[in-house]
Amino acid sequence: MRRKVLLLLMAVALLTEALLGGVVYLFVRGFLVDQSAARMEDMARLLLQSAETGEPDVDAWAAALNARGGGYRVTLVSGDGEVLADSGAEAGDMENHLEREEVQEALRSGEGQALRDSETTGVPQLYVAVTDGERVLRLSQSFAQIRALQRTLLLTVLGTALLTLAAAWALSLAASRHVLRPIEALRHGAGRIAEGDLSYRIPEQPDEMGALARDFNDMADKLSRALRHERTQRAQMQAVLRAIPAGVLAVDRAGVVSQINPEALRLLGLRSGRVGEKFGDLVRDGQLLDLARRTLSSGQSETEEWTTDRVLQAVSAPIRDESGTDMGVVLIVSDMTQMRRLEQLRSEFVSNATHELKTPLTAIRGCIETLRDPEVDTADPQILGEMLEIMDAQGERLQALISDMLELSRIESAPALADERGDLCAAVREAARAVGVQAVKREVALHIDADAALFVGASEERLRRVAQNLLENAVRYNRPGGNVWATVRRAGARAVLAVRDDGLGIPEKDLPRVCERFYRVDKDRSRNSGGTGLGLAIVKHLVRRYDGELDIRSKLGEGSTFTVSLPLWT
Ligand code: ADP
Repeated sequence: MRRKVLLLLMAVALLTEALLGGVVYLFVRGFLVDQSAARMEDMARLLLQSAETGEPDVDAWAAALNARGGGYRVTLVSGDGEVLADSGAEAGDMENHLEREEVQEALRSGEGQALRDSETTGVPQLYVAVTDGERVLRLSQSFAQIRALQRTLLLTVLGTALLTLAAAWALSLAASRHVLRPIEALRHGAGRIAEGDLSYRIPEQPDEMGALARDFNDMADKLSRALRHERTQRAQMQAVLRAIPAGVLAVDRAGVVSQINPEALRLLGLRSGRVGEKFGDLVRDGQLLDLARRTLSSGQSETEEWTTDRVLQAVSAPIRDESGTDMGVVLIVSDMTQMRRLEQLRSEFVSNATHELKTPLTAIRGCIETLRDPEVDTADPQILGEMLEIMDAQGERLQALISDMLELSRIESAPALADERGDLCAAVREAARAVGVQAVKREVALHIDADAALFVGASEERLRRVAQNLLENAVRYNRPGGNVWATVRRAGARAVLAVRDDGLGIPEKDLPRVCERFYRVDKDRSRNSGGTGLGLAIVKHLVRRYDGELDIRSKLGEGSTFTVSLPLWT
């Protein structure tokens, strides 16, 4: 750039020099010729006026003229061109001069001049001729002197040109530096900004370059703001993608993954997956690949659900730019396993609960039908007593069922209170008292070891409920002559209640499910002995609510041990 500017400046200087030198040279040269011609014309006129008729002494004239140098030659020519006298040669030897340019011109207009090589001497000569009407007096001077003058002039002009050129070079160098400095600063700044240093600002001078630098800085400001905005948006987007409890994948039209979040990797069982990978290479899930393909070709949103080791649901949506052109597809993958399981549990619960409620109701309605039957002797106290007893028992069962369902929903919805406190030993003693009658009826011996007081962070009423459910089960699923042992002890920072029986025991395959609502190992036995099917579900939820643990061990035919441990009240 600098070289170019320098060369340009030098070219301008050179051109100016050449033009100026040429003009000056030509002007001075013309001036010199004109001056000489004018002087010679004056001299020629004077000589002609002073010349008498006849043959003047041109040699004396020439000698007078050349007294101080000058190299003049004097020629006198008659009106018809004959050379009358010449200071440089013998007049008789000279040819007729009528055709000479200067003579012709003088005869025509009174004076004439010409610049040419002398035919006589071969040296360039300036000829000036004047006429008095009859004769022509011609003065000539060797042009060599004028030439010498011209040469000197040329050398002077060239010398001056060289000097001024050198000065112009130095000035141009300084000027180009001065002019280019802001451009250099601009170029440097633009380079830094282009490399990503958006905080760099170009120094602003109060000139045109300064305005350009200001524009540049404004542009860098806007660019850095836009980049900041873009970065913030990207960070927000990444945060959303990381936090969202769903897998998100974006695939472009070429099938290349342009976005994938950790949840998507987890749900699709991928150890790693990078943006830029081919979707088909990354994902092995046929349904997901199909879904993406369908949306890419149709541009329509779709939903797909499939089951692998879990239930996955994916929703696809086309990605469109402002003009509505499809650019790819985004896939949102959700794990529906828990939800589908809950839905199944809920529907199972509804159908179980309906069934459980229907059974005693049907029995009660059956009794009512029987009593309404005209053929049945309602006055018979035995029949009446039986009917009432059935209705009472079924009513009681209904009540127990409803109360257990309510209790379960209360435990699930109400939070544990921080200031709740209860004595586990007192609760077990109270529960044993409540179960006592039933135990005697079934000939099962209760062995209670809960004398001391052990406080835990749960209300005593709920502790009693836990203990009573476990004791009732231990008595209910037992044989006459069987035993139930209930012990409360302290183990570190926990209170542990163990209810053991030597009753029927639970088959191993049923063990994981006995705490489910309405799950029973032996349906008839459980119902007939008054169980609602919710006892252990209530125990499990209560224990969990109070940060406790429930452990069940059992062997079919040998008995079961239910152990509840709860954090001690501190
Ligand atoms: P239920 O009201 O039917 O007793 P639970 O939820 O209390 O309901 O118990 C669920 C099932 O677990 C019972 O139906 C029974 O089959 C089994 N079970 C509970 N406790 C015992 C136990 N101590 N011995 C044998 N089986 C038991």
